Amino acid sequence: MVIKNTQDYVKSLCYGETTGHDWWHVLRVRNTAIKIAEIENADLEIVELSALLHDVDDWKFKEKSEANEGIAEKWLKKNKIPAKKIELILEIIECVSFKGSGVETPMRTIEGKIVQDADRLDAMGAVGIARTFAYGGSRKRELYNPEEKPEIHSSFEDYKKSKSHTINHFYEKLLLLKDRMNTETAKKMAESRHSFMLEYLNRFLEEWEGRD
Ligand code: FE
Repeated sequence: MVIKNTQDYVKSLCYGETTGHDWWHVLRVRNTAIKIAEIENADLEIVELSALLHDVDDWKFKEKSEANEGIAEKWLKKNKIPAKKIELILEIIECVSFKGSGVETPMRTIEGKIVQDADRLDAMGAVGIARTFAYGGSRKRELYNPEEKPEIHSSFEDYKKSKSHTINHFYEKLLLLKDRMNTETAKKMAESRHSFMLEYLNRFLEEWEGRD
């Protein structure tokens, strides 16, 4: 019951969101996470709750409303989830997001590794490409600017401040994800999404440079 209620709650929070962090993203992450968790023998309830709540306190939305802080924690307490479990879930949510190409975000538990993998997989492939341009647009980023080269962000602060065009984001984040998967299952799933992004970038630059 708590899972169903959490689904409804998260759906009500992010339904119709337009930067790629909408309900359908959450649902895909949850479905992928469960698929991986079944293969990797993880605690399904922790994986599912963490996946459903993984973006509700995200830094990307903080500027919209500071009052959003602690949404996941409040919800879990309200639903009488045992304190130990809440602690584990909050730890996962805290570590899950990508904080820059040179910034390590190690995950302690197998459940956390799985949710992080599922979230990262959703940033790759055809869906990942669509989300990246949607997000870039929301941050007023150019699609591409050949005069601006990609850079490696060594701190989370630099990564957040980056105003670089969206094609750079592939080199600064998306193409690095394949080698950052935690689980063997996700590593395999990442391969075709990765090669599709390379194919896409080739095609994009071919058209841009009039070589097509
Ligand atoms: Fe996410």
